[in-house]
Amino acid sequence: MSQSRVFIVGAGTGRVENLTVKAKRLIETADIIFYDRLINQNILMLAQSTCKKVYVGKEPAGHFTPQDQIIQYLKEASQEYQTIVRLKSGDPYVFGRGGEEAMALAQEGISFEVVPGVTSSIGGLSYAGIPMTYREVALDFHVFTARSKEGDAEHDWGAISRLKGTLVFLMGVKNLPKITQALIDNGKNPATPVAVVEWASRSQQKLVVGTLETIYQKSLAATIKPPSLIVVGDVVKFNESLNYFMNKPLFGRHFAIPQSQAQLLLPLLEDLGAEVILFSSPTKVKAELSLPLSDEEMDVCLLDGSALTAFINWMNKHQTDWRHLKLKKLTVVGEHTQSALESIGIHPDQYYKNFDVLSHQSMNPDQIYIGSQESFKQLIRMNQVFEKAEFYSSSSEVFEKLENESSLEALDGIIYSNTKAVRSIEQYFKDEKLKRQLQQTTAYCLGEQAYRELNRLGFHSIIQTQEPHYQSLQALLIQIFNK
Ligand code: SAH
Repeated sequence: MSQSRVFIVGAGTGRVENLTVKAKRLIETADIIFYDRLINQNILMLAQSTCKKVYVGKEPAGHFTPQDQIIQYLKEASQEYQTIVRLKSGDPYVFGRGGEEAMALAQEGISFEVVPGVTSSIGGLSYAGIPMTYREVALDFHVFTARSKEGDAEHDWGAISRLKGTLVFLMGVKNLPKITQALIDNGKNPATPVAVVEWASRSQQKLVVGTLETIYQKSLAATIKPPSLIVVGDVVKFNESLNYFMNKPLFGRHFAIPQSQAQLLLPLLEDLGAEVILFSSPTKVKAELSLPLSDEEMDVCLLDGSALTAFINWMNKHQTDWRHLKLKKLTVVGEHTQSALESIGIHPDQYYKNFDVLSHQSMNPDQIYIGSQESFKQLIRMNQVFEKAEFYSSSSEVFEKLENESSLEALDGIIYSNTKAVRSIEQYFKDEKLKRQLQQTTAYCLGEQAYRELNRLGFHSIIQTQEPHYQSLQALLIQIFNK
């Protein structure tokens, strides 16, 4: 086994797409991840299914996992796992005790690496339309923490108040009146623009703009909470022209999509400003076929691609090949399965485009049906006669539990690209409350089949895109949500 490594990784401001290429690669290959409170669940969804995820942020009672404990966890993990990721928000070395963790690892002689991330103290501002520097307005910028180990941070307020550039305070919500008062008392103009940005870059982002004199009252009125950035300086006023993010058509909206669709659908929705919640897709577990070996001629129907793979595996296992098979009739369902067969030079006797067509045929009692459990169930739903069919399972689907089911509540919509996507949400129907909630959430779907499946599952409001592709979905969402 090669040497185990600890990576202290910056997760950026919270949006998945703000991860660095290296951070993404490490999360995708990690064996264990220790993560903080501000980490977006979708970032954790990038991890492989075998990866262990350990929360080391604020505990319910409000206490942080002690630093010694985290170091102990990392030490133990380095004995057991190969790739260990310590995932921290923003940049690991900007507050949040990243330096201390690295130092402790160095002292313990544990091999580690630090992967920089987009810090909220700089990157977060752009989501509020505030440039950190601007020629002739801010030639420098300064980042402060409002908290220290002992409590409130003690700063040289006289020196800070003389600075002309942009001032950014982290962890400052509780101390906002103290910060503004200290700046005014030390000579800063009370009319200096100030912005408070809560949950920068996330769909729940809030922006409050005022001056040193007014910002506290305004923040109270807007019930600003941590995590927030406090930005002091003339650059704040540019937000009126530069706030592209909060003006996006789907800003503030939440959509859930199956993880299997994330590659294309996640960037599309994020670009429109939405926050996306990924729910896990089922993983396929292959089954080995044990078909009756007989001298009689067989009628075989392959219901899907997994059936073809399993059938070929079965032939290999029994050292037989197509030429010697006593196949009376070979039937296949689905375009992909048919073309896969034809690519190896075999032309089925009968072909059905989908289960719809097949289900309208009479069930052949002498035929064996091979396919995934899910395909067979679907066929039976369409025509109960098939319950009597001689069926051999080539695969089944296993669902993984969603880490944070509450994120499926209060959604603006769930998007189903196909019937498989519908099936992956069905797993949450075991919980009656969640089931009712999901049924009441607007379902957006591509294609007729997904529509019918959603109907069957009792979704109250189902909207089908005009065309079964993502461009059509994009146009539809913009039309509905762009106020
Ligand atoms: N290492 C982090 C900072 C950790 S300290 C970084 O580089 O961003 C935690 C503080 O960071 C919070 O209290 C808040 O002030 C700020 N913060 C982190 N993420 C934020 C976000 N998305 N929006 C606003 N503030 C954020």
